[in-house]
Amino acid sequence: MAAPERPEAASSSSIPDYECVNVNSKAFHIGSFRDEWLKRLQPEDFSFQQLDQDAFDAKFAAEMGVREETMAELRAVCSADSLRCHPEDQEPDKEDRQTVGMVPETKADMLPEGEVIVTVNIYFPTNLGKFNGVRPRMTLLLTGSHTLADLRDAICCVSDLQVCGEFSSTPDMVPDFISKFLPSFMSLLLGSSTTIEWAKSHNYPSFSQAKMEDTRFVDLTVKLGFPYLYCHQGDCEHPVIITDVRLVHKSDCLDKRLYPLLTHKNRSLSQKCAVCHVFIGRWYTTQDQFAPSDPCLFCDKCFRMLHYDKDGKKLGEFLAYPYVDRGAFN
Ligand SMILES: [Zn+2]
Ligand SMILES: [Zn+2]
Repeated sequence: MAAPERPEAASSSSIPDYECVNVNSKAFHIGSFRDEWLKRLQPEDFSFQQLDQDAFDAKFAAEMGVREETMAELRAVCSADSLRCHPEDQEPDKEDRQTVGMVPETKADMLPEGEVIVTVNIYFPTNLGKFNGVRPRMTLLLTGSHTLADLRDAICCVSDLQVCGEFSSTPDMVPDFISKFLPSFMSLLLGSSTTIEWAKSHNYPSFSQAKMEDTRFVDLTVKLGFPYLYCHQGDCEHPVIITDVRLVHKSDCLDKRLYPLLTHKNRSLSQKCAVCHVFIGRWYTTQDQFAPSDPCLFCDKCFRMLHYDKDGKKLGEFLAYPYVDRGAFN
């Protein structure tokens, strides 16, 4: 988080300042913060026009007070061409490619100059007991014109795929896709009606409520580094932390179709089938006379081979539940 120099007249709610040092900022309005930057910068500072390399070098040398020999050394050692996160003969990961200066083919898909970029960390659900405040499940870059609904749709969580129920007699009836009508919400950014009622009854300051589809980041007043909450499927609660708000730079991915842009994903360990130890678990059974443990996890193939005859008839007694592995989004 970097704040521009603070003139006397500036409103405190448009320039972030620490509330807790090195932890989180006070609340500020993202759109006003962007406007403060745009007022102070020259258009060429946030322009996407590439500077002529010689002109750039001369400006850099003058600003840093270094001589021509030093510039030549910097060019040789620190140029972007010498940076590599993969072996020379291999293609970089798709995710790596997207984040480095990608320019769209048509102008219509180009991010506008002066657009604001918001970095959001989404953590594992707290009910998994994995929130340690250090390693986010994923990091997304969103633009100021994205809505909270765009953020919600970009969050991958197995809870959205989990089918509840016992299917040992009808394993083919497990739907591939289920629509769930439990509402999701971002709390503290926006409260759900339950949160609002609860806050009222406990004498907390009043919350406002708005639709995620109608709420753009640029219109939000937020605290950087402060844990907010995304809740979906009833009780799957993810801490969400905004870690940075800045203007888009010409070295960013400039293709707006690729945003929300995933820049980091924490891969989860997959739980393997207890029989073949090769495939990822798709079923777990309980009270199962064929299983070495209770509950026991099976891949689809082993589950069907062990528990059904060739006509698909259930063999023996057991209860079977569909299982979605946490590594499904790796
Ligand atoms: Zn979730
Ligand atoms: Zn298996």
